[in-house]
Formats: sequence, structure tokens, C-alpha cells
Amino acid sequence: MTGTAEKVRCLIIGSGPAGYTAAIYASRANLKPVLYTGLQMGGQLTTTTEVENFPGYPDGVTGPEMMEDFRKQAEKFGADIRFGIATSVDFSSGKHKVVIDETTEIIADAVIIATGATAKYLGIPAETKYSGMGVSACATCDGFFYRGKDVAVVGGGDTACEEASYLAGLCNKVYLIVRRNELRASKAMQERVKKAHNIEILWECQVDDLFGINGVEGAVLLRHKGKPGEEKFRINIDGFFLAIGHKPNSDIFKDFIDTDETGYIITEPGCSRTKVPGVFAAGDVMDNVYRQAITAAASGCRAALDAERFLSDL
Ligand code: FAD
Ligand code: NAP
Repeated sequence: MTGTAEKVRCLIIGSGPAGYTAAIYASRANLKPVLYTGLQMGGQLTTTTEVENFPGYPDGVTGPEMMEDFRKQAEKFGADIRFGIATSVDFSSGKHKVVIDETTEIIADAVIIATGATAKYLGIPAETKYSGMGVSACATCDGFFYRGKDVAVVGGGDTACEEASYLAGLCNKVYLIVRRNELRASKAMQERVKKAHNIEILWECQVDDLFGINGVEGAVLLRHKGKPGEEKFRINIDGFFLAIGHKPNSDIFKDFIDTDETGYIITEPGCSRTKVPGVFAAGDVMDNVYRQAITAAASGCRAALDAERFLSDL
């Protein structure tokens, strides 16, 4: 640990819609918030193209642009935005300790956890073997490398449909590998996928393995896995995109605050308070239902207001 701990009134961990909104409200309330961005400055939306459902942008906006607007608005009111990752915490006393990058200790009166969620992997060894060699969890980041080629996307939610649609505009062919016989995605997203002439949905299929010599050349799939009539077959692809959801980034907090079986932080009903006084949670890290930019932003607002009340009662 370097030097003496820095004392902060309100510390915000995370720079997605929840963290930045908390920073806007906290700085306007003169809480002098310090926000650490984490590795993904701007959060999950920096991995997407168009955001069409965030109010205030009638013509849509790209995810990175929108998050840049959030950041500027927070800085305009004085939020101290810093690059750094919270690597450990100690919430065992009233002084909430947060260590940044394993070196800098912060002692905060109030902490707002807005660490969001990160992409899940299937857990097959081939994902690691071909990491950076054809396997990706972000089509908008890596799709460009597969222009004119054949690729596959795994998943049946909004992310999978959005990624498949995006790739359809770049690639020759997109397989959408769906484990059930229906999509979880919203109707609008489903329509978009079904309309694309070069997306083929492979229903009730699961990925068994990937193959290729110097990178992904194909996938081995199982249709009706573990059921009568199970069928194994191969598809030839150059890129393999995961879009099977996200895991909440709550591991470093688990010794001090409650989480559900998946890792979502549990807050008191209707507010952002965790079981530790002065520690609040907002956004996708505590929301296993809505997981939208607007709901994350709204819960960031609530967390800042809850923190303000907590601090004024101290
Ligand atoms: P996130 O956006 O996940 O941000 C988390 C932040 O925490 C990041 O800045 C990260 O760096 C930081 N962090 C994590 N761990 C640490 C740590 N230890 N220390 C410091 N910082 C840390 N929603 C919509 O409403 N409309 C859309 O069109 C839409 N499109 C999407 C497209 C894709 C591809 C994806 C994946 C999601 C999309 N969503 C969309 C959902 C939306 O992105 C999320 O609901 C929203 O970003 C959640 O905001 P958040 O602030 O809770 O967390
Ligand atoms: P999600 O809604 O949790 O969907 C995950 C999908 O992956 C599901 O179809 C699931 O199948 C499948 N899946 C999970 N594990 C799997 C496995 N091991 N093998 C094969 N398939 C697996 O996640 P998401 O699509 O990332 O969306 C997260 C949130 O962000 C949602 O609230 C969504 O609305 C939002 N979002 C919104 C937009 C938008 O509005 N434009 C865009 C992207 C995301 P099952 O269906 O069988 O469970």
C-alpha cells in the first residue's frame, strides 16, 4: 500500500450509466464524489453500436458517444473521475476501505457500487484455446475482422440478436445458435434477426467444441443434446461470438454484503441500501430483471440520493 489512505466523502466504483448518473447527482449535491472507472470506461454500452431506447436521443446514439455525454455531464458538475480498478474492500468497520489497483487505499464515508456485469463464457476448453484467435464476446469490437466471412453467435437474448444483426451487415453468413426452440429477445429484436437474409437460426443446438489449426475454422454442435435423437454436426465458421449473458461484478464485495446465488447484490426493497450502512449498490450489479441503461441510470440516481441522506445524518 502506498502512503496514507485518502479520505473521500463519496466513492463511486464503476463508470457505466449507473456510476456516471450517481456522479452527476452526488456532485450536484456537493458530495465531492470520486469515481473510479474500472477497466471498461463507460461500461457495457461502449461495446454496442446504436442505442435507440434511451430517452432524449430521438435519432438514436452510439453507445460510446452516449457514455461520453454521461462522463462530460458528471465532470461538468465537478465529479473527480479517475482510471483505476477497485481490487479489494473492507467494509467491516464504519470506515469503508477500498483499495485501488492493489496500491492506493481510499477511506470513504459512503460507497456506491456500480460495477455492472461482464460477459459469460460457455466454459468449454476451446474458448480459452482460441481466445483472440476467433473467439470473441463483443461483435461490435471484433466483427470488423470477419468481413465477408462466416461466423456464429451463441445465445437467444437481445444481445445475441443485436450482435447477429450487426454481424449480418458485415459478414457473408451468420449462424445464431439457440439452445431452446424460442428466443428470449424482445419482439423487435427477433423481427430484426428473422428479416435478415443471411442469418440462419440453429434451434435447440449447443456448442460441443471448436476446431481449427491456426484459429477457429468451425464448431461442433449438438442438436437435442442429451435427448432421444441427439444429433452431432459441424459448421464451418471463422469467428465465434458469445452472447449468453453477463455475470455481475460483485466478487470483491461478497465477504461483506449479501448477494443472490448468481452474484447479484441484494439491496433493501425499493432502495439502493445494502446491509452495510453507507454502502449502496446501483445498476446491473444489483438488477437481475431489467438490466437496461435507463434503469441503471435511475438506480444510480437513487444511490446518490440515498448516499446524500446517509451522509447528512452522520
Ligand atoms: P456497466 O455498464 O456494466 O458498467 C460497469 C462499470 O463498472 C464499468 O465502467 C466497469 O469498468 C466498472 N467496474 C467493474 N468492476 C470494477 C472494479 N472492480 N473497479 C472499478 N470499476 C469497475 N441497454 C439499453 O437500455 N439499451 C441498449 O440498446 C442496450 N444495448 C446493449 C448492448 C450490449 C452489447 C450489451 C452488453 C448491453 C446492452 N444494454 C442496453 C444493457 C446496458 O448496457 C446495461 O444495462 C448498462 O450498461 C448497465 O449499466 P451499469 O452502469 O450498471 O454497468
Ligand atoms: P439474457 O437476456 O440473459 O439472455 C442470455 C441468452 O443466452 C438466453 O437466450 C439464454 O438462453 C442463452 N444462454 C445462457 N447460457 C447459455 C449457455 N450456456 N449455452 C447456450 N445459451 C445460453 O442476456 P442478454 O441478451 O445479454 O441481455 C441482458 C440484458 O441487456 C437484457 O435485459 C436485455 O434486454 C438488455 N439488452 C438490451 C438491448 C436493447 O434493448 N437493444 C440489447 C442488448 C441487451 P435461454 O433463453 O434458454 O435462457
